[in-house]
Amino acid sequence: MRWDNLTDGPRGPERAGALFGAASVVTRTFDTPEFRGITFHEVRARSVLNRVPGASRMPFEWTVNPYRGCSHACVYCFARKTHGYLDLDTGIGFDSQIVVKTNAPELLRRELASSRWAGAHIAMGTNVDCYQRAEGRYRLMPGIIEALLERANPFSILTKGTLILRDLPLLRRAAAVADVGISVSVGFTDTGLWRTVEPGTPSPAARLAAVRSLTDAGIECGVLMAPVIPFLGDSPAQLRATVRTVAESGATSVTPLVLHLRPGAREWFAAWLAAHHPHLVERYERMYAGGSYAPTWYQRQITRQVHELAAEFGIGPSRRGAARRIPVPERPAGSAPAEPVQLSLL
Ligand code: SF4
Repeated sequence: MRWDNLTDGPRGPERAGALFGAASVVTRTFDTPEFRGITFHEVRARSVLNRVPGASRMPFEWTVNPYRGCSHACVYCFARKTHGYLDLDTGIGFDSQIVVKTNAPELLRRELASSRWAGAHIAMGTNVDCYQRAEGRYRLMPGIIEALLERANPFSILTKGTLILRDLPLLRRAAAVADVGISVSVGFTDTGLWRTVEPGTPSPAARLAAVRSLTDAGIECGVLMAPVIPFLGDSPAQLRATVRTVAESGATSVTPLVLHLRPGAREWFAAWLAAHHPHLVERYERMYAGGSYAPTWYQRQITRQVHELAAEFGIGPSRRGAARRIPVPERPAGSAPAEPVQLSLL
């Protein structure tokens, strides 16, 4: 049971077996259409800055994750396994049992103020999506970005959530004083595939519209073309359509990533595949016979195709550099806030 590491509530025997009865965990449901069927477990975390284990292949060392579990419910989500660490179900439970670190902004402010903190880059959205639907209610990200902004601390956000546009004025202010990198994840633009494999996410078109809004606001925004799903989203026509629409969104880069299926995600995806595309089960068993990753030759082939398409449609280094550290004047106290941004959650 890892909840003892997550919360600042009582530890030891008095918490044994008290997953949902613990004093520091408040469980809530909301009877509104966007939250129907979702249970929120509000916790007061003991720390919010996480150091990525040294052996990780990730290109960053520090992360902040205000949520555990993700209502975006992507069938292939690699973070499913982490829900098991909390004794929660990695299938439907990952989609519907959301842990909320309600004190994340105040904790981050305190941890960034520590004399031991050297101002390293912080990555967000690397475990679960920090702009999933819960963020519309809990509004943790504005406080988190404010804390980073106050320290001019560099950070990056990876998301599928168009809710990020709510925080556009804050992001612009942060980008004026620190390196801010935003990436939106769009693996394909096929709406039929989207509805079944990423059922809780904003549509690919809505995500790419968000990329357009971010880049129009002067914030450099790349697209992580992930995942490219073998046999379902990898035909030359599909890759072409996706890269073309990514280019039209104004994205500054496109980075392909082929579907990987680690334990936790693998079983859930296999069940989905058997239900929706049973004729592909054997091909997948062969494709992922070596483990969690597709064969290297396949990954290279997809990467080469996407890079060629990106060059054809003009995505690349020439688009970079226009947005970092943009000059944004401070808003005088008492003046009107920036114009509200239209949101499209789903
Ligand atoms: S949006 Fe990201 S974190 Fe959320 S379910 Fe999908 S892949 Fe997982």
